[in-house]
Amino acid sequence: MTISFDNSYARLPERFFERQNPVPVKAPELVVLNRDLAARLGLDGDWLESPDGIAMLAGNALPEGAEPIAQAYAGHQFGGFVPRLGDGRAVMLGEVVAPDGARFDLQLKGAGRTEFSRGRSDGRAWIGPVLREYVLSEAMAALGVPTTRALAALRTGETVVREASGRPGAILVRVAASHIRVGTFQYFAARDDLEGLETLLNTLIERHYPECETPLEVLQAVAARQAELVAHWMALGFIHGVMNTDNMALSGETIDYGPCAFMDHYHPGRVFSSIDQFGRYAYARQPQIAVWNLAQFATCLLPLMGEREVAVEEASAAVDSFIGVYQRAWLRRMGRKIGIAEASEEDLPLIEDLLGRMATEKADFTRVFSALRRDPQTARAEFTEPMAFDLWRETWEARIAREADPAGVMATENPLRIPRNHRVEEMIAAAMEGDDAPLHRLLEALSEPFAEDTRYGEYEAAPRPEQRVQRTFC
Ligand code: AMP
Ligand code: MG
Ligand code: MG
Repeated sequence: MTISFDNSYARLPERFFERQNPVPVKAPELVVLNRDLAARLGLDGDWLESPDGIAMLAGNALPEGAEPIAQAYAGHQFGGFVPRLGDGRAVMLGEVVAPDGARFDLQLKGAGRTEFSRGRSDGRAWIGPVLREYVLSEAMAALGVPTTRALAALRTGETVVREASGRPGAILVRVAASHIRVGTFQYFAARDDLEGLETLLNTLIERHYPECETPLEVLQAVAARQAELVAHWMALGFIHGVMNTDNMALSGETIDYGPCAFMDHYHPGRVFSSIDQFGRYAYARQPQIAVWNLAQFATCLLPLMGEREVAVEEASAAVDSFIGVYQRAWLRRMGRKIGIAEASEEDLPLIEDLLGRMATEKADFTRVFSALRRDPQTARAEFTEPMAFDLWRETWEARIAREADPAGVMATENPLRIPRNHRVEEMIAAAMEGDDAPLHRLLEALSEPFAEDTRYGEYEAAPRPEQRVQRTFC
């Protein structure tokens, strides 16, 4: 099998990356292969499942045309700047050009130590986070959210040590529109490397923003894509968990699924990540954090934007343009979630009233909205005090009486099934014991999250109190 590689990033100046082969693993074993995605990339699924294919996916054999690199980047982690991060546990094999010409990075996550690995970090991953990212990113794709994808997950046959215990090692084969991050720009900006910045900007334009001609236009376009993306997360109750600037892809895809989570009980202050002590990346803070990250990106572009004072003003306005796009996108999506095809500002109180009642009455985010699309009467049961819903319902029904097809609109915006934390945890626990059946069933249940399907009713259920997950780990 020949893979159609064209490795544009590996042709950039050497300081953009370190050439780095994946470190072979002991006994690779395929856990799951994404055949639909393989086909999308023009890869032969049967070959990928063969010993040669598995050897490639594990990093034990290099396919012809690959030019493996670890990319350089910097980043703000929880607000603190780290001038050199980079791929410390990931190796990009190259860029695959799909049959339709689209270009995708093929990356092995957990491929061993690189020049960027710090201290005693092992460059490896374990089965828990690997399968979490596989399931979450594929669920997001099925929900229609721009995201990196998962091509495969493998066991390595090795053990990695985390929190003093040995865990099954694993590799995630990730596919992304690119891995250019805000942190990639920060890497060059921190070194006053103007030429590097310019080269990177041209790469970004060529790859994702061909309609843009100036740094300012790129900044505006990036802001708009991020605004749409975060509004989409919010409308699904998704909490990224680690919105560091190195985890914000400039393609507009969701990237780096660590301790992320879909909310069950709705609350704006909700935090799941075990490493987010102060709630910096809480659900409702995500838009602000995106703006903060954009401001870091803007700062990197300033040296390319001409006269300083004018540039600062223009860049600030471009960063602020996030807010308007976000608010419109949020209103559109939240309006559609309650059956209003094109919500206006006047509908805002109705949406906010519902969310307020949901927060107070501990209502399950996904279940309330799926009940509205199916049978509003059943939504009552999601509220600790059902009357709270009844009161809202009266006003709501008066409003949607003016809509042509509220149920149809809600059916495209309100998923029935999301990767619920307790289901994800249960799947990981089973995989740690070598049982992958829950993984495969979960993936099936989430592959068409908006479609009625009685086979997967159990995946619609909220966690029972003893099943509730309060913390997620990466
Ligand atoms: P992340 O938490 O995936 O956003 O990663 C932040 C930084 O830590 C990146 O530079 C990673 O490459 C690095 N890193 C995370 N885990 C490991 C590991 N097990 N070994 C080496 N580097 C790591
Ligand atoms: Mg180099
Ligand atoms: Mg990261």
